[in-house]
Amino acid sequence: MLRLTDIKLPLNHNEQALELAILGKLAIAKEQLIAFSMFKRGYDARNNRDIQLIYTLDVELSNQDQLLEKFAGDPHVRLTPDMTYKFVTQAPKNLQHRPVVVGLGPCGLFAALILAQMGFKPIVLERGKAVRERTKDTFGFWRKQPLNPESNVQFGEGGAGTFSDGKLYSQVKDRKHYGRKVLHEFVAAGAPDEIMYVSKPHIGTFKLVNMVEKMREQIISLGGEIRFSTRVEKLDLVAKGKGFALKGLHLSDDKYLEAKQVILAVGHSARDTFASLYEQGVYIEAKPFSVGFRIEHEQSMIDQCRFGENAGNPILGAADYKLVHHCKSGRTVYSFCMCPGGTVVAAASEPGRVVTNGMSQYSRHERNANSAIVVGITPEKDYPGHPLAGIDLQRSLEEMAFSAGGENYHAPAQLIGDFLAGKSSEALGEVNPSYTPGVTLTDLSKVVPDFVSEAIREAIPAFNRQIKGFAKSDGLLTGVETRTSSPICIKRSGDYQSVNVEGLYPAGEGAGYAGGIWSAGIDGIRVAEALALAYEQSQEAK
Ligand code: FAD
Repeated sequence: MLRLTDIKLPLNHNEQALELAILGKLAIAKEQLIAFSMFKRGYDARNNRDIQLIYTLDVELSNQDQLLEKFAGDPHVRLTPDMTYKFVTQAPKNLQHRPVVVGLGPCGLFAALILAQMGFKPIVLERGKAVRERTKDTFGFWRKQPLNPESNVQFGEGGAGTFSDGKLYSQVKDRKHYGRKVLHEFVAAGAPDEIMYVSKPHIGTFKLVNMVEKMREQIISLGGEIRFSTRVEKLDLVAKGKGFALKGLHLSDDKYLEAKQVILAVGHSARDTFASLYEQGVYIEAKPFSVGFRIEHEQSMIDQCRFGENAGNPILGAADYKLVHHCKSGRTVYSFCMCPGGTVVAAASEPGRVVTNGMSQYSRHERNANSAIVVGITPEKDYPGHPLAGIDLQRSLEEMAFSAGGENYHAPAQLIGDFLAGKSSEALGEVNPSYTPGVTLTDLSKVVPDFVSEAIREAIPAFNRQIKGFAKSDGLLTGVETRTSSPICIKRSGDYQSVNVEGLYPAGEGAGYAGGIWSAGIDGIRVAEALALAYEQSQEAK
């Protein structure tokens, strides 16, 4: 098959247009075209009066070799690459020890799935509850019930992205096409087929809940085991060379599990786990992350601005945006985790702290658009001196937000106009806050360092030049956004093991190797393969 890229057609093109575009591009007769399928569909809405759909198509032809030669100099006509997933190895029948996966977020889920598919019968340890029970706790908290520190937006089956927009794209390099495997498995578990071909796929929160359950069933049916409400508290290490080798895991409830190979996929909110690892001497470095607020506007305004008279077209769906501003101070402010037609969610996992995030349903039909507007911070400048200092900073901001919200998990909020003018808000405007349990109007500058407020004050008017209405005075800011990515990196070597603990495979977002559902899934696959190959080598060496 040949892959044709950059085939552009107007938004409202008819059904035959794709075929005609292929015939035109290759200058062939209809008889030479056997079949074609869509690999990707994106759009270019820079001119919203003339929105173009951009296709990548796989085409089966009777005279492929001849055409390949004819278009040898054309980068938009190439052989379709083989992107099917191939297992690197299979477990032996007499498996000597079972690998352990800690954390059942997207990284742990894919690591466990791949290990199970290779026959390694992984044991998965997850501190939170199974996804249905977890959903009750999380939605309960949003309805003013107490926060359960072990079962919430961050912790439990499915991980941090379970109650999310379920965006499935990122800019990670994926030369081995692991991302396709992630999408295939999601579709097999019930995700809409379109995630295979739309350029910015998303799933939405309720579909994710069902999918996670189906994937769990598959892991179990292949001999895997999943233990919920089981937290890893400490590693059991023995000295080896200049570092350690892993022997086992101390679990909550004073249990112990022997373990020589462990994938540690605990996400960015496992602060207690990070502290325990650090105390035991696992090599950890501080890394940059970002802090700021969630911003909310009416979705109709964003749609209008991006799509003009094409707003509401079902192919385009609810509009998103991506914004970046480089401030005079040298700081960068950007939009992050944009959730079209979604809600702002209470994402706390620790008592006495307030933190925001965003989610949406597959339909993206809620009234408001939200995104994080955050400022990049670095350990060198903003939290020097200790590998875990970023966590202290996150905690102190979340505590200030808790206090400013009224100490009842309401989030502090402010109208954009008041924030820009530097005065406390007293009444809401047209944009209704979607955050539950509720918001307390206040002055948000008191919950973040001055440089963060100043940078965001400079950025919002700049963003308004790209999205007219972005600085509208009754848009809403809610705080505080601190869990944009992990504040630490658990360093690993080329073999994906910790630089100083043999057998420990730090993985996913918490370890600093992913940012988002898709890239966490990809990292899970990568690390599962490394573990399987290391197992194989260790058996051969015996
Ligand atoms: P996590 O998903 O955080 O999973 C870690 C798991 O480990 C958790 O289930 C936790 O309970 C468990 N765990 C932690 N410590 C221990 C321990 N000591 N013992 C046992 N288990 C432990 N990303 C996107 O790409 N698209 C989105 O639309 C999106 N929206 C989001 C919305 C929200 C509300 C949130 C919170 C995040 C969102 N993200 C989104 C980010 C995304 O969820 C994360 O990047 C992703 O989940 C990281 O995957 P992970 O497996 O590395 O870690």
